[in-house]
Amino acid sequence: MRETSVKYSIVVPAYNEEAVLTESYKRLKKVMDETTEPYEIIFVNDGSRDRTPEIAAGICEQDKKTKLINFSRNFGHQIAISAGMDHASGQAVVVIDADLQDPPEIIPRMIEKWKQGYDVVYGKRLKRKGESIFKKVTAALFYRFLKSMTSVTIPVDVGDFRLIDRKVCDTMKLIREKNRFVRGLVSWAGFRQTAVEYIREERFAGETKYPLKRMIRFAFDGITSFSYKPLKIATTLGILCSLGGFIYLVIVLYQALILKMTWPGWASSISITLIFNGIILIILGIIGEYIGRIYDESKNRPLYVIRDSINFPGKEEEIKR
Ligand code: UDP
Ligand code: MG
Repeated sequence: MRETSVKYSIVVPAYNEEAVLTESYKRLKKVMDETTEPYEIIFVNDGSRDRTPEIAAGICEQDKKTKLINFSRNFGHQIAISAGMDHASGQAVVVIDADLQDPPEIIPRMIEKWKQGYDVVYGKRLKRKGESIFKKVTAALFYRFLKSMTSVTIPVDVGDFRLIDRKVCDTMKLIREKNRFVRGLVSWAGFRQTAVEYIREERFAGETKYPLKRMIRFAFDGITSFSYKPLKIATTLGILCSLGGFIYLVIVLYQALILKMTWPGWASSISITLIFNGIILIILGIIGEYIGRIYDESKNRPLYVIRDSINFPGKEEEIKR
């Protein structure tokens, strides 16, 4: 049973965000109080190893509109968002990072669009402040590469900061795939979508929780969840290689039989061997990425495990399961 009294649910994933949580809460509260409509803020503590859960619990104690879900360990940003959506009861659900890079002050503009009848209002980053050139360039390249790879239209320069209608949230709850790329899944769901443009701010405090390794994994999840094209690269390369090899063979035979030219050595053959072995290994790796994900799905484990929760009256036990 859903609490229908809540109009807006704000989902805030937090992993080691002790330095920002209080400030994010203050800014969110201010913005949401101004809507004068009932709302809830759901913090999802993704197995933080700092004081994030204590700080969040403190906030929940004072303000019953805020709720907390504590994961049993770190499950990752995308899973934390999904858990927030699973337990949100609002008619519209907003996902926002804890670090104030997505300004809460944009939420009223999203709500306005929602009231005009849009089901998904995503935040489109016009600019990214305070992030390294490397992050900006790789992010820009990634969004464009993803777009060229997939048949689902995933808007470029858009993160997870967005408002979704109850209908979309219910659709998300049906999708239980493990290596989740939430923004892609929201695009996949369809409905009426629109953008609100904003400037992505600097992190308020603390450090990014997306080091290069996680960014690469995230990129692979995005591509493999929505495209088979990388698997097809193998076929194209294979055809090109064998065609090239065949033409080269004809040339060599012509030179040897007609022109009577032969070469001692063949140092070049070593580089060719290396190149082709490299290609084969890369392709095997790509296939491995897909098989690994099939393996993850086949295990059928729950997406996340909840240690405990606060301010979900009467639902604590249900949530744990
Ligand atoms: N986050 C999370 N679990 C993780 C990593 C990150 O819940 O394993 C949260 C983090 O607390 C923040 C949001 O996801 O609220 C985005 O992370 P971050 O700001 O580090 O990413 P960036 O903005 O640098 O891409
Ligand atoms: Mg951030």
